[in-house]
Amino acid sequence: MQILDGKKTARELEKKLKEKVLLLKETYGRAPKLYVVLVGDNPASLSYVKSKEKACLRTGIEGKTIKLPNTISENDLLKVIKDLNNDDTVDGFIVQLPLPKHIDENTILNAVSSFKDVDGLSLLSAGKVMNRQDGFTPATPKGVMMLLEHYNIKLKGMHAVVVGRSNIVGSPMAKLLLNKDATVTICHRYTTELGFYTKQADIIVVATGVVNLITADMVKKGAIVVDVGINRVDGKIVGDVDYENVKEKTSFITPVPGGVGPMTISALIHNTVEAYMAKMENK
Ligand code: NAD
Repeated sequence: MQILDGKKTARELEKKLKEKVLLLKETYGRAPKLYVVLVGDNPASLSYVKSKEKACLRTGIEGKTIKLPNTISENDLLKVIKDLNNDDTVDGFIVQLPLPKHIDENTILNAVSSFKDVDGLSLLSAGKVMNRQDGFTPATPKGVMMLLEHYNIKLKGMHAVVVGRSNIVGSPMAKLLLNKDATVTICHRYTTELGFYTKQADIIVVATGVVNLITADMVKKGAIVVDVGINRVDGKIVGDVDYENVKEKTSFITPVPGGVGPMTISALIHNTVEAYMAKMENK
């Protein structure tokens, strides 16, 4: 069993990116700039935003967080987004989810310019992923693909089982695996006999938010297991996989924390540099 070390991989990729950012800065006169729009004070969101700010510092990207009150109206939030769309010095920005209940997430995500949608969550970005066109891929599935590539895992011909079908993780994940010529099965909360599918998988990617959903009896010997889940249990962060019992059956497995989480942030920073380069090259 080998650990897919997301933290180490993310740091290695960020080191390379930092060198690239330095060169870009010399060429174009400024660093890429990423804004995060944070509404309210959800503790998990605050901690994600801090991690993103730290990654910006590590890679030489200018990172800025716009903090807005929980009570902001949908219209006022749309105005903030419009300003960011029109601000030529901003290369990419994301709206940290979840948003307060009185704000429609889709309306907000679809208002983000497709040139700056580095979280890849607008309809247009999602459509581009579905049609295999160049665009921004959501950071978490992109981070998973970067991690698999780093470990030289060839997906062609593999049976991949994705557990979870959200717009942020499961659905784009399945498409990215399909694009790499894996045969993909998607499972979700209404799948009966989940183990019937996971037991046939060469690679399982699980993103459900259900603690210990994947147990050792559900995993084929030698399978690759990627755990996207982030759950807080007794003050500790755990994934969706019963890690201690599953790990010995696998050929590769991601730990939680230190697996997909750091890769997600790295992927976001990569998307930001891509947005910046596309803008500068088209000027
Ligand atoms: P979501 O709630 O939008 O979607 C959960 C999905 O899991 C749904 O498609 C649902 O059908 C499926 N599901 C729920 N219960 C199930 C069950 N018993 N069996 C099979 N499928 C089931 O969540 P999300 O935004 O996709 O996030 C999923 C998990 O990934 C969460 O724990 C979240 O915190 C984590 N996450 C981690 C990162 C990261 O960077 N590591 C990024 C995003 C999300």
